[in-house]
Amino acid sequence: MNLILLGPPGAGKGTQAKRLEEQFGIAQISTGDMLRAEVKSGSEIGLQAKAIMERGELVPDGVITAMLAARVSRPDCAKGFILDGFPRTVPQAEALDRMLAEKGLRLDHVIELKVDDAALVERIAGRFTCAKCGAGYHDTFKPTAKPGVCDSCGSTEFTRRADDRAETVAARLEAYHRQTAPLLPYYAAQGKLSGVDGMASMDAVARQIGAILTGKG
Ligand code: AMP
Repeated sequence: MNLILLGPPGAGKGTQAKRLEEQFGIAQISTGDMLRAEVKSGSEIGLQAKAIMERGELVPDGVITAMLAARVSRPDCAKGFILDGFPRTVPQAEALDRMLAEKGLRLDHVIELKVDDAALVERIAGRFTCAKCGAGYHDTFKPTAKPGVCDSCGSTEFTRRADDRAETVAARLEAYHRQTAPLLPYYAAQGKLSGVDGMASMDAVARQIGAILTGKG
């Protein structure tokens, strides 16, 4: 099963993608996570992407599609994948269509997580991640059970994304509305688009997605 989770930054794509990965044994592919790893390693792609990401703008299509093509060829994608943060522009979506056609694969569903811009700013500003295992938390909506200790692995080190600052969030939302929202009609025309209420609780969103994937949505 090959899926795309579409939606603005902070809509919950990463959270839902992780759940689907566990539930269906398909790979979560987050181009944002891949880029952050490139930045951390100091690779050529990372050096190119760092300043762009800090401004809240999009990394050039050619860089991203090449990275994605290599990623979907890896063995953990044999049963399928969930794309989280890709495609983000119509040229990326067109490149993905060509890539899948070449591999004899198809896209099963594109699921839009709908969330108001005002709620997004609040969600993004409070989020943090365990530096050791990557578990995601939020100051208000999903704090750790014991303050300062990761529920999953017990680590006491956490990180916050450099681009989650309020100034950058506005630029990221603008990029979403201008460059990524045109993908909604693109996938609607292919008959693949379904929407879920991303303002609902994490469990309720997961149930809505489950209903779409099992044909009951
Ligand atoms: P994300 O973790 O998905 O919010 O992505 C963080 C940042 O990485 C974005 O603001 C972009 O600068 C960059 N990025 C991630 N995915 C893409 C993509 N598909 N196309 C262009 N830039 C991307």
